[in-house]
Amino acid sequence: DKFRDGLSKTREGFSSRVNDLVARYRKVDEDFFEELEEILIGADVGFNTVMELIDELKMEVKRRNIKDTSDMQSVISEKLVEIYESQGEVNSEVNMQESGMTVILVVGVNGVGKTTTIGKLSNRFKQEGKSVLLAAGDTFRAGAIDQLEVWGDRVGVDVIKQAEGSDPAAVMYDAVKAAKARNVDVLICDTAGRLQNKVNLMKELEKVKRVIEREIPGAPHEVLLVLDATTGQNALVQAKTFKEATDVSGIVLTKLDGTAKGGIVLAIRNELQVPVKFVGLGEKVDDLQKFDAEKYVYGLFA
Ligand code: GDP
Repeated sequence: DKFRDGLSKTREGFSSRVNDLVARYRKVDEDFFEELEEILIGADVGFNTVMELIDELKMEVKRRNIKDTSDMQSVISEKLVEIYESQGEVNSEVNMQESGMTVILVVGVNGVGKTTTIGKLSNRFKQEGKSVLLAAGDTFRAGAIDQLEVWGDRVGVDVIKQAEGSDPAAVMYDAVKAAKARNVDVLICDTAGRLQNKVNLMKELEKVKRVIEREIPGAPHEVLLVLDATTGQNALVQAKTFKEATDVSGIVLTKLDGTAKGGIVLAIRNELQVPVKFVGLGEKVDDLQKFDAEKYVYGLFA
């Protein structure tokens, strides 16, 4: 199971520590909760989320009159799933159009795995029998266009581009025209990933969105924010900035395979109220999995 395998680092760190805790404490007491709190914070679950979880656990322990720690692993799993699900929409899908083209805007800071994610997504759609076109909207970073083309070649998808340094809105205009003319099912648009200047970022994303919307009313249908799980709480900070800059409709959390702090999924969900739609579990083309909350939580322990 790919999902399980991708979580092996987090599982090693997290579940072995919880198991160890349960073994050391026979009674569920204040010290037990304190150590659990530390483990959860260490796994990047995020302070607010941890506090909420610990409160819930304490109430549950009281309600069910739990005295010893032997049931605690399953109670923790249940509560983690509950907290995730209490935020609404779970395991949500990409918002695909029933008829006509679906336009997906992909945003995120350089280095998080944006290009790789676009390649993986293209491959998924192709495997579902859909036609895909890519728009090289990151005209700022040297090499970004070439890199997107490498992925395009790899998965057999064309890339609409202009020269480095050109106006990303002009690239989008071309791409939408081409996508319409070719009648493609999915247009995936890359964007520049500069965060240094929030006002510029906001302006650029707005301009790009405006061009797309003018050509295809209702588009973009999905704005996917790519975040790197290995950057921990930094990913949360990035997410907040992007949420202020544009309407983020879903998150792709990459490199979950490369961190022992996979608890960040819960923090993102709980603190941003944006669904995690995909997770990246490796560098290869098929290492992008649809996010599944239960599989995720049970994968932390199983
Ligand atoms: P971009 O600058 O955001 O476009 O980032 P890239 O797509 O170039 O990715 C940066 C690096 O992260 C590359 O070496 C990718 O192979 C790697 N990468 C991307 N996604 C994943 C993932 O899910 N897992 C792992 N382990 N590596 C990833």
